[in-house]
Amino acid sequence: MLTLLKTYFGFDNFRPLQEEIIDNILKQKDTLVLMPTGGGKSLCYQLPALKLNGLTLVISPLISLMKDQVDSLKTNGISAEFINSSLALPEIRDIEKKSLEGKIKILYLAPERLASSGFQTFLKKLNVGLIAIDEAHCISEWGHDFRPDYRNLKAIRQSFPAIPVVALTATATPKVREDIINQLELQKAKVFISSFNRPNLNYFVRPKRRTFENLVSILQKYKDQPVIIYCFSRKETENIASDLREIGFDARAYHAGLPSEKRQKVQEKFIRDKIQIIVATIAFGMGIDKPDVRLVVHYSLPKTIEGYYQETGRAGRDGLSSDCILFYSYGDTVKHNFFINQIRDHTEKSNIQKKLQQMVDYCEQKTCRRNYLLSYFGEGSLLEEKSNCQGCDVCLTPREDFDATEIAQKILSAILKTDERFGLTHIINVLKGSHNKRVLEWGHDKLSVYGISNKVSSDELKYVIDLLVGEGLLGRSADSYKTLYVASKGRIFLKQKEKLTLKKPHFEDEITTEVKKKGALDYDEVLFAKLRSLRRELADDLRVPPFMVFGDTALQQMSFYFPQSTDSFRRISGVGEGKLERFGKVFIDLISSYAKENNLEEKIIAAPRTFEKKIKPANGRSLKRRGSTYSITRELLLQKKTIEEIANLRQIAPGTVINHIEKFFNSGETLNLSHIALPPDRLEKIQEAFQKTNQWNLWPVKNLLGEEFSYDEIRLARIFLTQK
Ligand code: ADP
Ligand code: ZN
Repeated sequence: MLTLLKTYFGFDNFRPLQEEIIDNILKQKDTLVLMPTGGGKSLCYQLPALKLNGLTLVISPLISLMKDQVDSLKTNGISAEFINSSLALPEIRDIEKKSLEGKIKILYLAPERLASSGFQTFLKKLNVGLIAIDEAHCISEWGHDFRPDYRNLKAIRQSFPAIPVVALTATATPKVREDIINQLELQKAKVFISSFNRPNLNYFVRPKRRTFENLVSILQKYKDQPVIIYCFSRKETENIASDLREIGFDARAYHAGLPSEKRQKVQEKFIRDKIQIIVATIAFGMGIDKPDVRLVVHYSLPKTIEGYYQETGRAGRDGLSSDCILFYSYGDTVKHNFFINQIRDHTEKSNIQKKLQQMVDYCEQKTCRRNYLLSYFGEGSLLEEKSNCQGCDVCLTPREDFDATEIAQKILSAILKTDERFGLTHIINVLKGSHNKRVLEWGHDKLSVYGISNKVSSDELKYVIDLLVGEGLLGRSADSYKTLYVASKGRIFLKQKEKLTLKKPHFEDEITTEVKKKGALDYDEVLFAKLRSLRRELADDLRVPPFMVFGDTALQQMSFYFPQSTDSFRRISGVGEGKLERFGKVFIDLISSYAKENNLEEKIIAAPRTFEKKIKPANGRSLKRRGSTYSITRELLLQKKTIEEIANLRQIAPGTVINHIEKFFNSGETLNLSHIALPPDRLEKIQEAFQKTNQWNLWPVKNLLGEEFSYDEIRLARIFLTQK
């Protein structure tokens, strides 16, 4: 299978779960795949299609994507076609004929085709090996994108009772999932759910102040790179697009109010790298599949976490580091509330309000944003507790420790004294000695805790309460009142008069939007730009989007390794046999002449190996179980791989690798780590700093050492210094 993967698709490793899914399909079993955007769903049926006898039918609702998928398969040397309403009858007849003659491996179909009995008759004559149903949530009325045509799929299942079906979607609510299984009559389907974490996406929330100026300075860092900016209204998209054009950016508006030819043109140009920036309403994105979007900006507050996750999900589908920046102001909720207030249905209204509030919570929260998103989708436990995700503004901006013992005692007492019957606002009012009506009505102005924290700002109190919930000292009731109560850990803390250290919040402006390119290659940018324009020329000739020639990953590797022979070029990720034959020579020529001019030598590209596949899913569920993820890092360390290499291979942050190493040592395991030891002079400097600060916390040491030392390096040093 790895050979097929490399030969046809040019990839060296499977993404998480792909191999298990393909394996299940090849065993002729029904399969349901829940994977986030960019997870690599297509490959899950395209690769089995090559191995199975007969033809693979793919049902897909998006006509524009169908053509792209087929073009992409053809550039990889795979015989594929599609049938939908965009084709003329003779073309359809021709494809039908070829299908019957067994000349086509993968055939894409629009669901409405299935309604015609003539077409059904044609299908029955085909030798079908696999049926793949893309965007399978469209079959469910519970999903956000119900398409009545999808109900016709029942018939296809009945026409081919013995042929395995694989259904794929990025929507994972249990209700939709069950509906898919029932509607499609999947037989004992094995369900594969992959994590919805997108490790290559970096999440930032910025205050919505001097927003346009800030946007411009952000955009300057994404020269020539595809960007999507989401706005609240059609008018806003047009204004921002024209303001951006005025100062020289290549930006176009996109919204449902534009004529459809115009929309199509803008979209097409964006996909073909002829427009850099799209300024859009949420109408943009459904039918596009551009893998190399490097930045998604939300200029206004999105309505729901689901929407936000989906829109940001359009960044970095190719797995390269990409950024998601949201400009937040609480004032934006007013615009939403205007619409919400017009809703009559009470339940619907309160549901929408609740979702908006969760979006506000996301923006206002002072702990890891990724963690928030994952726990929203029911996955909180996947991230190691309190670990630094290295990819959100909160985690990337280090925070100082402070002694929170006293303030925590006050908060906890206030909650106990008011009988654990109130939410955040009331508790803060009591602590601050507010003359609020409710406080007086309840007689809480008579309590000893009344006004006890009147010098502390409400924001700070709110922040500490959030942290206390996070630390497990406080709990919040699950209903909409969010009543605060003191958890058993909090009671012990009070009783035993324990000390408590928490992290200080940072001021909004300190929050970084500086992006660390995780595991990225330090490639030659001049060559990269040249390769990009070559790629665009070739794509224009072939009338396909540039990324179908080669993706950014491939170009970056070329600009790092400078491969100049067929053999080394073949090792680049994304170079399969089809593309090698078609494009190899022109690219090698360009790389060779550039290398010669600049005296650059070819670097050796290590033969790739697959490690992710060794992780076995537990009941088809997530991969990132503790034991396994550590043991892989451990295995790689034993093979004397460096931290950088491990991070690259596993597509995780170097910081996470160091986390793992820390865990080994804390659990008393001994490993020989001489190959990742720090240079003695640097280790010595860090050691001195630890001695000076007389403790083992990182922050004071980092403060002392300054920019020259990174947190990761200090943390690694701490491992060596504390190990006996
Ligand atoms: P999805 O449909 O889940 O959003 P796609 O199938 O479009 O994802 O894949 C997203 C991107 O990932 C594509 O550019 C694809 O070429 C790439 N991709 C898929 N599988 C692999 C793999 N095993 N190695 C490298 N890239 C992959
Ligand atoms: Zn984080």
